Amino acid sequence: MSEHTTAAEHTTTGSGSGARPAGTDLPTRYADALLPVFGTPQRVLSRGEGVRVWDTEGREYLDLLAGIAVNTLGHAHPAITSALAKQAQTLGHVSNFFATAPQIELAEKLLQLAGAPAGSGVFFANSGTEANEAAFKIARRTGRPRILALENSFHGRTMGALALTSKEAYRAPFEPLPGGVEFLPAGDEQALAAALAPGDVAAVFAEPIQGEAGVLPLGQDYLRALRRLTREHGTLLILDEVQTGMARTGHWFAHQAFADLQPDVMTLAKGLGGGFPIGAVIAFGAQTHDLLQPGQHGTTFGGNPLAAAVALAVIGTILEEDLLTRTARTGDAFAAGVEALDHPLIDGVRGAGLLRGIGLREPHAAGVVTAALEAGFILNAPTPTTLRLAPPLIISGADLDLFTATLPGLLETAAAAGRS
Ligand SMILES: *Cc1c(COP(=O)(O)O)cnc(C)c1O
Repeated sequence: MSEHTTAAEHTTTGSGSGARPAGTDLPTRYADALLPVFGTPQRVLSRGEGVRVWDTEGREYLDLLAGIAVNTLGHAHPAITSALAKQAQTLGHVSNFFATAPQIELAEKLLQLAGAPAGSGVFFANSGTEANEAAFKIARRTGRPRILALENSFHGRTMGALALTSKEAYRAPFEPLPGGVEFLPAGDEQALAAALAPGDVAAVFAEPIQGEAGVLPLGQDYLRALRRLTREHGTLLILDEVQTGMARTGHWFAHQAFADLQPDVMTLAKGLGGGFPIGAVIAFGAQTHDLLQPGQHGTTFGGNPLAAAVALAVIGTILEEDLLTRTARTGDAFAAGVEALDHPLIDGVRGAGLLRGIGLREPHAAGVVTAALEAGFILNAPTPTTLRLAPPLIISGADLDLFTATLPGLLETAAAAGRS
């Protein structure tokens, strides 16, 4: 229960029709009508265009978070609005009793972008957590009992994905979770080798850059060790690219920064639909392709023509506007600009492309996020010492410079608030 109403108040004062007094403000109605899982939203947003959004009071914000690495083309991009309208006017949803051309075309496109070998295949879901559920089921189908995930991992909130997520506070209230999952310290090659040695591990789940943990890259050496050792032991390497995929890091998929590093399974969501909910699982190669047999998994909405048409428009626009190159370039320039501030509270910039974590020497990240919002910038604090930026890939260097120039003032405001 929120502090606003009690269950008793609801039953005695509710009209039963959902009617409410005129003039009740939106934040209060939010608190009354929605479950309190997200904490109090800081603003009610009403409109977006390009890299900017506006709230219901008419205040403007530069969106440096893009709905958490989702709105790759920003807000109200004409490629998305026209693809969505056109598909909605043609055929919106059919169930998986039927196929549609956009779904098939999107699967082919993803296989091509991923460089997947012949015999590979795609399963469409509606979110990141669902994509990881499907990957979890693929792993179970190997018949091996153990699954490895990494400390600081985040794979989603449904029970299977939660079982793969290391954060105790997320997991503990929901135990027992699906079993057989063990957590390894990220970056520890010896621990990995020892855990894989018995030959009974179905899969290792890993994010190339751990976004929710504070934008922590696993790094080339450890990713290569993951690939080599899993292959040696007949274990699946499952890369969760839900946050890092779809051009976010300046590559279609973050693992492509390293030649020859192909996973056995990859999961996608966030940026794939540019704001329309869609997730995907790619199974690389014929052996992985056949682990899920007909009838062993399913979805009503997954891969529906609306979602597929929008995802195709997102991919087409990334290609047309060469957003891979642009993302790599603007991301590097931004990181260099923040480093050049040489600010005593800044401990460096992590990540790649336009998925960036600014490390802080003191736990002022939440204070900076609040001060930034007041100053018209949206970002978030995945940890007390990390600021995360994942702006639309179409953002200009000039807009990023606006934030960089404001950052020292935000840090000082937050530090002062922290002292008082
Ligand atoms: C966001 C995220 C998920 C969960 O995606 P949802 O769409 O919120 O279910 C899973 N894995 C990673 C790496 C993520 O960043």
